[in-house]
Amino acid sequence: MPPKFSTTWDYSTQLVHAGERLSHPPGRPTTTPLYSSSTYYHDTLDSFNDALGGHGYAYGRNGNPTNVAYEQACATAEGGTAAMSTASGMAAIYSALLAAGRTLGRPLHTIIAPRDVYGATTVMLRDFFAPYGVTILTCDMTDLHALDALLAAHKVDVIYIEQLSNPLFRVVDMAAICARAQAHGARTVVDNTIATPLVQKPLLLGADFVCHSATKYFAGHGDVSGGVVVVREHSSYAALAHNNATVGMVLGPYEAQQILRGIKTMPLRVERQNASAIVVAEWLEAHKNVARVYYPGLPSHPDYATAKRTLGARMGAMFAFELAESVSLERFIDRLQMILMVSTLGDIYTMISIPALASHRGLTPQERAVRGISDQLIRVSIGIEAADDIIADFDHALA
Ligand SMILES: *Cc1c(COP(=O)(O)O)cnc(C)c1O
Repeated sequence: MPPKFSTTWDYSTQLVHAGERLSHPPGRPTTTPLYSSSTYYHDTLDSFNDALGGHGYAYGRNGNPTNVAYEQACATAEGGTAAMSTASGMAAIYSALLAAGRTLGRPLHTIIAPRDVYGATTVMLRDFFAPYGVTILTCDMTDLHALDALLAAHKVDVIYIEQLSNPLFRVVDMAAICARAQAHGARTVVDNTIATPLVQKPLLLGADFVCHSATKYFAGHGDVSGGVVVVREHSSYAALAHNNATVGMVLGPYEAQQILRGIKTMPLRVERQNASAIVVAEWLEAHKNVARVYYPGLPSHPDYATAKRTLGARMGAMFAFELAESVSLERFIDRLQMILMVSTLGDIYTMISIPALASHRGLTPQERAVRGISDQLIRVSIGIEAADDIIADFDHALA
């Protein structure tokens, strides 16, 4: 059939087709190019038929070569067998929960989620699962006895886990929870956004699905939104592909390429961010105008022992601290010169956020108090600047 071009055509017709669908001469790009194409042409009916059956490219919603490169990098990052890109972290969570149900071969009836789960995930479970008959149970996932009691009392389909919770950075015993889920016939879905695979790889500890807001550490530069679900068993991938093809939660190829670039330097960034986090957290803990620091790498953290036992050498690049009551939050923020106040995390920049004003704004002061979130609590996401400069900025603001 090729080449689908003729100089006998009208000039306008030639310009529609000129240069397109050329086969590539030898020499491959070292970095995956941006395939913005939404449709793919095949030379034979057989080949097109194969592509429509899932072996080849036919239409953007069903697959894109740039996205596939990004997905392979994500699978490698988390030690999984396959990955599916999604338009955001929230789409990844939604897709993983739907896929968990499909791989069980039954409708979801009961999900256990952490009591301090990410805000938008709370809303998703409340507005997009509960109204369809799914019971949402909440649990302090650091308390395995509480989890055991729930599992004994309910037939649970999915245990939803976050490693390093927001904003107090609680650490769960991932392997212990995954073992309980497997014994119970439940799937585990893990949001590993805050920990990153440099801190822990849940799939290697028995988790079924790992979700990321790739907007955060994977992309790392605050210039792109995206998500991914990585699976332990390749058979789970089909359910995710079905979600993308049918619900249309696909990541754009430009975003896939941007995040793929970010992943290449993630180990370098995250290693430095983790190394600075412990130094800055220790410095803050010793400061007279700081009431308390919540970092799992510090012996003062309630999950220090779990972190020491179950995490690797790294404890994350985020922590929270409480200003002493005598210090004005407003004045502190006003005096910061480099550190940015934002509502995200994981970028190359050192950033703070105020949970009472941002992530936990929707809660009443009493609800926040129950969760240990005071109005003086500041969440920190350490960037890749030199630790000395980060400390100097905090020092100036705390003086
Ligand atoms: C940001 C975030 C999400 C949501 O990701 P988006 O890319 O913003 O959709 C989910 N979970 C955690 C822990 C996050 O930090």
